[in-house]
Amino acid sequence: MSVTYSGRYDTIVVGVGGMGSATAYYLARRGKRVLGLERFGIPHSMGSSHGHTRIIRMAYYEHPSYVILLQRAYELWRGIQQSAGERLLHTTGSIDAGPEDSWVFKGSWESCRLHDLPHEVLTGSELQRRYPGYHLPKDHLALVQPDGGFLTPENCIISYVRGAQAHGAEIHGREQVLEWEPLEGGVRVHTNRGVYEADKLVITAGAWDGELVDVLDGLAVPERQVLAWLQPTNPERFQPENFPVFNLLVDEGRFYGFPVHGVPGFKFGKYHHLQEDVDPDAMDRESHDYDEQLLRDFAERYFPEGCGPTMDLQTCMFTNTPDNHFIIDVHPEYEQVSFASPCSGHGYKFASVIGEIMADLADTGMTRHDISLFRLDRLINPPSRPLDQSHPPATSNGHDSNGTNGHSRDFPRVSDIQTFW
Ligand SMILES: Cc1cc2nc3c(=O)[nH]c(=O)nc-3n(C[C@H](O)[C@H](O)[C@H](O)COP(=O)(O)OP(=O)(O)OC[C@H]3O[C@@H](n4cnc5c(N)ncnc54)[C@H](O)[C@@H]3O)c2cc1C
Repeated sequence: MSVTYSGRYDTIVVGVGGMGSATAYYLARRGKRVLGLERFGIPHSMGSSHGHTRIIRMAYYEHPSYVILLQRAYELWRGIQQSAGERLLHTTGSIDAGPEDSWVFKGSWESCRLHDLPHEVLTGSELQRRYPGYHLPKDHLALVQPDGGFLTPENCIISYVRGAQAHGAEIHGREQVLEWEPLEGGVRVHTNRGVYEADKLVITAGAWDGELVDVLDGLAVPERQVLAWLQPTNPERFQPENFPVFNLLVDEGRFYGFPVHGVPGFKFGKYHHLQEDVDPDAMDRESHDYDEQLLRDFAERYFPEGCGPTMDLQTCMFTNTPDNHFIIDVHPEYEQVSFASPCSGHGYKFASVIGEIMADLADTGMTRHDISLFRLDRLINPPSRPLDQSHPPATSNGHDSNGTNGHSRDFPRVSDIQTFW
C-alpha cells in the first residue's frame, strides 16, 4: 500500500520511540510541520523503551555534567506530565551503592557534592534498617538521593505522541524508513509506503541508528539485555514508598532495580547482561533458563524477600557507544541531518531534554545545552590523551566485549562506563 502526501515537511523524525516521540513533540510545539515515522507500533516492545519502568536519578556517577541536563529533564518531564494529565514520573528516591572506593558509590557522591544535591550516605546495615528489602554487604556504602524514581516509558511515548499530534504533527506507525538521501537544502526519505521530503531530518532510530547513519556504523552497537520480575515473598518491602530504585555494584556485577509497579513483581536487571552484541533484526528475543538463573542468583543474595516465583522475563536492547556516553550531533557532511544515540543503558531519563536538544539542532543547528561530551568527533578524532585508567571500570567477569557482529568498523569498546575522576 502506498500513501502519498503533498507538500514538504519542516522536519522528518525517523524512529518514534523514547527520543523520537519527544523530538516530534518539541518541534511541533514550536509550530514546525513534523512527520514522525516508526517501523513498529506506537509504543512497541521491539526496541529499547519498553518494560513499564525506567530509572530517573539526579545523582550521576557516570559523569557529573549529566546533572545539569537532568535538571532540565526533570522540568520537562513535569511539563509533559501536566499536559498529559497523567502521572509519568514517580519519585521513590535512588540508591547508588557499592564498596566505599567503587566508581558507582564514589561517582554518585561526587556528583551530589559538586552540584549541591541533597543526599545521605548509609552503610549496608543502616540501609537495611531503613529499607528492609535491601540486604547489601554491611560494609558497602549507599548514596541515597531523594529526587530519584522511575518513569513509565510506554506512557511517556504515548503522551509525547498525543501532544505532538495535538500540535499538528503527523505520526505514522508501522512504516519503515528504507533509506534517505540529501538534497540541496533538504532531504528525501524513502519508506516501505511512500517518499517524503523535508528541510531537516532527525534520526532517533535507537538500535537501528548504525544502519541508517553511516558515521554511526560500528559506533552504536546493540546489545541483548534480559530483565526479571519476581514476586516478592514480603510484598510490603517492595512497594514504591519502601523501596527506592537502585544501582548496585556487587561481586556479580552492576545491577539496577525498581519497586513493584505495573507487573506484580520486583523488577531488576544486570547491566550488559551476558555481553552479547547483536544484530537488532536477528536478536534472540526469548529469555532462557540461564538468563533467569543469573538474575535469580543476584536476587537471592541481595534481595532474599524479593525472590519468589518469576512473574516475567523480557529481552530488550542497549545500544552502546565505545565510551558508553551518548552520541548527539549534526551529521559531519549534511548539516540538515542530525542524530541521537543516547542509550548505553542509561538514556531514557534524558528523553525529554534530548527531545528539546534535537528540536534545537533541527531548528537552528545549535543548542543552548552543553552537548560537548556527546559530540561525534570525540570518537572519530579522539584526543591523543589516553582514557584515564586510574579508575578501571568494574565488570562482573573481567572481560571486554569488542564484537561488532557484522559492523564494518572495529572500535575498541570498554565494557562499562569510564568515569572521569
Ligand atoms: C533493559 C533496559 C533497561 C534500561 N534501563 C534504563 C533506566 O532504568 N533508565 C534510563 O535512563 N535508561 C535505561 N535504559 C536505556 C533507555 O531505555 C534507552 O536509552 C532509550 O530507550 C533509548 O531510546 P531511543 O529512542 O534511542 O530508542 P527506542 O525507544 O528503541 O526508539 C528507536 C525507534 O526507532 C525505530 N526505528 C528504527 N529503525 C527504523 C526505521 N528504519 N524506520 C522507522 N523507525 C525505525 C524503532 O522501531 C524504535 O521505535 C534501559 C534500556 C534497556 C534496554
